[in-house]
Amino acid sequence: MAVVLTWLLKESGSYFSCTSDKSFTPSQEDYILVGSTLFVHMMNLPCNAHSITELQINVNSLSNSFSQEIGCGAFGVLSLTNHSCNPSAARFSHGKVVTLRAISFIKKGAEITDSYGEHYALEMPSQRNSVLSKQYCFTCLCEPCKNNWPTYANLTSKFNLKCCKCGLIVDSKGWCISCNVTVLENMISEENIENSFTSSDLGKHIEHIMSKYINAHTQILAGEDSILYKDDLRCMIRFIDKYVVHPCKTYFEAQETLKHYYERLGSRVYRKDL
Ligand SMILES: [Zn+2]
Ligand SMILES: [Zn+2]
Repeated sequence: MAVVLTWLLKESGSYFSCTSDKSFTPSQEDYILVGSTLFVHMMNLPCNAHSITELQINVNSLSNSFSQEIGCGAFGVLSLTNHSCNPSAARFSHGKVVTLRAISFIKKGAEITDSYGEHYALEMPSQRNSVLSKQYCFTCLCEPCKNNWPTYANLTSKFNLKCCKCGLIVDSKGWCISCNVTVLENMISEENIENSFTSSDLGKHIEHIMSKYINAHTQILAGEDSILYKDDLRCMIRFIDKYVVHPCKTYFEAQETLKHYYERLGSRVYRKDL
């Protein structure tokens, strides 16, 4: 294909010519350079192109808005991001510019990951890896793939607390047998909250974060775009990432709402006909 395109460029008369009065005869090396450059780009695109999207906002029902692919482009820096079926970041289109935004709590030094189209909540590991191996020639070894996480339909809303030091599930009293600390002690040292924080406060603390999250989720889906609601979503996501065992239904829902919030800041079109 690259050879044919190079030949067509030559035959068109508009390329391999000189715009000045001086005569120019392209050498064999010139044709090889153009042909091989075309070949590199043609090989590059199937693996490294990213979609450019536009949010179709349903003015009659915001929650039924959806992101539509309207093109694609080669984004060299974004292509450096590895895939995970539980990505820590997502892409958002702003015209021809595509940005990558965090959708999880990313620890200092942790890898930033993106989804190449396959997500643990939507497809089974075998289905995801069938697509990934065909298109990108790798087998995914992310946490959802290694631990066979259930899809969204099979997730429960239960919060299983974990120790943020070692990641082990704590017992019913919030105790980590490995680190000899409680979730409560974890939070006091991590969150700069008062030492007088008691175990009954822990329940209230979780309820408080949850109620702010539910309100933010409702308001954003109703069309509100206050930065405070976005912060409440991020607070919920951060809390789950630090103290709750994955996978978690609320986590996925909070990420989806946060993605919807960011999509509304990007390319969008308002439609009455949806
Ligand atoms: Zn995976
Ligand atoms: Zn621990």
